[in-house]
Amino acid sequence: MPRISYVNGAYVPHQRACVHIEDRGFVFADGVYEVIGLINGKYADECGHLDRLERSMRELQINPPKTRDAIRFIMRELVRRNRLQNAAIYLQVTRGTAKRDFKFPTADTPSTLVMMCWPFNYDANPNVQNGVKVCSVPDQRWARRDIKTVALLPQVLAKQKAAEQGCYEALMLDGDGMINEGGASNFWIYKDGVLKTHQADQSILKGVTRTAVCDIAAKHNIKIVEGPFGLDEAINADEAFCTSATALIVPVVQIDDHVLGDGKPGPLARKIYHYYRDYADHEKQQLYWVY
Ligand code: PLP
Repeated sequence: MPRISYVNGAYVPHQRACVHIEDRGFVFADGVYEVIGLINGKYADECGHLDRLERSMRELQINPPKTRDAIRFIMRELVRRNRLQNAAIYLQVTRGTAKRDFKFPTADTPSTLVMMCWPFNYDANPNVQNGVKVCSVPDQRWARRDIKTVALLPQVLAKQKAAEQGCYEALMLDGDGMINEGGASNFWIYKDGVLKTHQADQSILKGVTRTAVCDIAAKHNIKIVEGPFGLDEAINADEAFCTSATALIVPVVQIDDHVLGDGKPGPLARKIYHYYRDYADHEKQQLYWVY
């Protein structure tokens, strides 16, 4: 069955899915995106992702290309056409196509909306089973990391460096050696019964999975501190893990040359993973259309 993607109003074979060479996403990285997990037919944290997409557009004054309901409808139609039950769904909005000029194009320029999806096996992710190694790199991103833009070159370079060292993720360090987050995930440590993650300010992306994990921890009486911590503190943690929409909760067993604990995924990371899966299974789905 051919893979189908969505581009500006049309469902097209994936190989032919393209935007104009003067699309501002292509020329200036002038766009925002979201990745949403489809887990056993359910859109995990859909509302949180669409809230964040709307916030990202608002912060950058990008005109929403469609209403939220229309975006939901397109997503479901895309999933239906690709016959998927377990997938990652990618949505991107750019400021549209216009003659190359740095300043915003005229207000009537239609924004670009593209969507694609691919199968994702949430039940057999070896990173979740075995844990992963991560490395630390300087955070070279811009100052508004709370906006989910497609300007991802620093993450591309960080993730490439991580891959070259056999690592799953790169921890982004600020100038004082404090850990902001992963290249494409939020980062957590657990020590002496306290779970810690960076506060949600402009130096990190406030992950939708992060928010769910905060809620889960509160529900299960796990103490959480949202605040700064450095590499030294992370290396001495009892456990660590990364969170993101498709990887979910990935235990970290090594940071640079330092093995955490016994080098195996810790019990808290496993517990939170199962709590999250349960939460995603039982999340109330906002279904507007029945096929
Ligand atoms: N931080 C960054 C920089 C990311 O790119 C991502 C996801 O892509 C996350 C955190 C995790 O966010 P979410 O849980 O919403 O996927």
